[in-house]
Amino acid sequence: LWRFWGPLSALSKVYSQVLSAMASAERIFEILDTDPEVADRTNAKPMKPIRGEVVFENVGFRYGDDKPQVLRDVNLRIKPGQRVALVGPTGAGKSTIVNLLMRFYDTTEGRILIDGEDVKGVTLDSLRRQMGIVLQDSFIFSGTIEENLRYGNEDASDEALRRAAENVRIDRFVSQFADGYQTQVEERGSKLSVGQRQLLAFGCVLLSDPRILILDEATSSVDTETEQHIQAALQTVLEGRTAFIIAHRLSTIRDADLILVVQNGTISEQGTHEELIAAGGLYRKLYTTQFDMQQSLAMQTGA
Ligand code: ADP
Repeated sequence: LWRFWGPLSALSKVYSQVLSAMASAERIFEILDTDPEVADRTNAKPMKPIRGEVVFENVGFRYGDDKPQVLRDVNLRIKPGQRVALVGPTGAGKSTIVNLLMRFYDTTEGRILIDGEDVKGVTLDSLRRQMGIVLQDSFIFSGTIEENLRYGNEDASDEALRRAAENVRIDRFVSQFADGYQTQVEERGSKLSVGQRQLLAFGCVLLSDPRILILDEATSSVDTETEQHIQAALQTVLEGRTAFIIAHRLSTIRDADLILVVQNGTISEQGTHEELIAAGGLYRKLYTTQFDMQQSLAMQTGA
């Protein structure tokens, strides 16, 4: 449920462009670096290792001079390690917020600071290397499962690889393949389910160990067992990272340190689940509607 919150469309668009030509993680950055929307400034410096504090100061954005304003007056102050859930109707601006954070685009007004550093002043490569991203339908590369994991960190030891695989619970299904981690998977092949691909993407995140994680929570239904693995793996993956989650699951939203209700290009409400319920605004209305819907569905299906 909460499906109407909609997918991370803009980001997926950028990624599908990237994907078609992608050979390795290095290549993602190369291609993104050639993205004409954003380029390094001449005096750009590498971003130092970050702790993961994120500040939006009066951020406004439009996708082009002739395009409408899609974000206005966005102010955020996220502490390192906080889990932030973005919720709101489709088209409200959730993906745009994370697009700006990854610097797929630069703000038209205001600034974004990471650990106090204006993201416009640092090199794209050094910025994006400190961020991880997991999309709804996680992409895989043609190659072995091990190679896919190593995209997270090419220098990872076998021990680190094994540990990450266990932590995101992919060892369980991989061991069922005759070739184990050497099993060949295809970019668009069906050998791995959506849920398994997402677990694999979580594995990459653990290996690359970014301080900031952007996650578009999957909406597609997976079997109950995979769902349990995803939930457990998610907790491990989020541990110690600042996370921006375009959230679709009530449990994720309720557990967030901060919920941002994005509406019409602004943050209309922010707070914890309890605070927003008490405030009695849109969040409460949506939550109540969704909850009632879940209840009646559960009754209909006898669940
Ligand atoms: P959400 O993630 O909440 O569904 P988005 O951030 O994707 O919302 O979209 C916010 C607004 O920006 C929408 O009106 C959408 O049509 C517009 N938009 C998104 N991506 C682009 C783009 N690449 N070019 C022009 N407009 C865009």
